[in-house]
Amino acid sequence: MFSKILIANRGEIAVRIIRACHEMGIKSVAVYSEADCDALHVSLADESVCIGKAASKDSYLNQNAIISAALATGAQAIHPGYGFLSENAEFAALCEKYSIVFIGPSAEVISKMGDKDTARSIMAAAGVPVTKGTGILKDADEAKKAAKDIGYPVLIKATAGGGGRGIRLVEKEEDLEAAFSSASTEAEGAFANGDLYMEKYLYPVKHVEVQLVCDNAGNVVCVGERECSIQNRNQKLLEESPSTAVTPKLREKMYAAAIKAAKAVNYTSLGTVEFLLDTNSDFYFMEMNTRLQVEHPVTEMVTGVDLVKWQIRIAAGVALDFTADDVKVNGHAIECRINAMGGADNCVRLLHSPGGFGVRFDTALYQDYKVPPFYDSMIAKLIVHAKTREEAIRKMEAALCEIVILGVETNRDMQVSILEDKDFIKGEYYTDFCKKKFGGK
Ligand code: ADP
Ligand code: ADP
Ligand code: MG
Repeated sequence: MFSKILIANRGEIAVRIIRACHEMGIKSVAVYSEADCDALHVSLADESVCIGKAASKDSYLNQNAIISAALATGAQAIHPGYGFLSENAEFAALCEKYSIVFIGPSAEVISKMGDKDTARSIMAAAGVPVTKGTGILKDADEAKKAAKDIGYPVLIKATAGGGGRGIRLVEKEEDLEAAFSSASTEAEGAFANGDLYMEKYLYPVKHVEVQLVCDNAGNVVCVGERECSIQNRNQKLLEESPSTAVTPKLREKMYAAAIKAAKAVNYTSLGTVEFLLDTNSDFYFMEMNTRLQVEHPVTEMVTGVDLVKWQIRIAAGVALDFTADDVKVNGHAIECRINAMGGADNCVRLLHSPGGFGVRFDTALYQDYKVPPFYDSMIAKLIVHAKTREEAIRKMEAALCEIVILGVETNRDMQVSILEDKDFIKGEYYTDFCKKKFGGK
């Protein structure tokens, strides 16, 4: 096992990983930007190294600075968390070059799965169902022709996309050109790759994803599914496990497809296969996330599997000590992402975290902490676990109402109204839920 790991991230996920390291007897090294001197992950880690200025590109995305910090502190492995460099194949390769273990799959697998167009081709060839769509489109004219063939509405998607960015819904031909150009510009800016492709827009659909844990000995185990259909502008807002739409028979089929997907690329480490699930219980591969997922805690709560610890163990060459038969899903878990809504006063003047039986609050906030404006707007994750979905919903509502984060405006009220919605309560909701309920895109 490693004796020291560097965590190339910040916020709640850095804290989550540092905690796992401490429990495993592994020393932790935090890296931080000049804007994060007072961040919680810095004080919780055993050592810390400042890696640059506030802007992500100068610090958390600065590959050489992070590698230097690992070499200087003697860290044997780097955990990238999510976002930042977590799906950057070049960084995974750089780690390899310096004999530092990248805690994730190989650079080759990251690069295959990180390109959605390539991933779709691999999956289609492996017999995993994919939506009707195209390869990379040359220009808007080619897109127009393809859309005619596929049939509107269509979705234009950035092949390098992530976090819901670079996606445009196009319902009619006259909107296509503008959507194509704005998606391309957004993708170029966010991912330095403006390549776009097209998919049939499925409607109504649920987003259901399967958590995989794959060791280096070829063991591939599915650890439950998560439903993530509550989204705002294609960004997840609330997740739950299990999904109300997944019957045992369907679960078996989705697991089989997820395993096929993993085996098609000899996948190792944690990974998530995202599917779209329609009302006929047909499902389609959307993408594979080759990293720890934001919403991983709901899986941990219902299965009792500590995903971060397993991710670290697998990277150290440890084989899984459980099989699919050992994975039991108990009760129901829900996660609400608590996002800061902006505003000038971003100092946490008073903080009260909810607690109690089955309540987990993953955050890097503390009282008097000043939230820097440079990073992800997600400032906390509230996760609850109960015997039934109904009880979990009530528990979540009570816990949300208990939160006090004075000084930072959050989306808490929005989360409460989702939990009180009759369609949500019935479990009959789709990816358009927020658009229908709150308006907007
Ligand atoms: P996951 O697939 O783990 O659920 P998401 O798809 O929500 O994660 O987000 C993917 C990545 O994009 C995350 O690593 C997150 O850091 C980043 N991200 C998501 N939403 C935002 C946002 N509003 N601002 C900045 N970054 C974001
Ligand atoms: P990202 O990498 O940004 O997470 P995804 O490919 O996972 O991008 O898509 C993000 C979200 O967009 C999905 O969760 C889903 O709600 C929606 N979406 C993606 N593809 C389709 C599609 N073909 N039809 C309908 N909705 C889709
Ligand atoms: Mg996705």
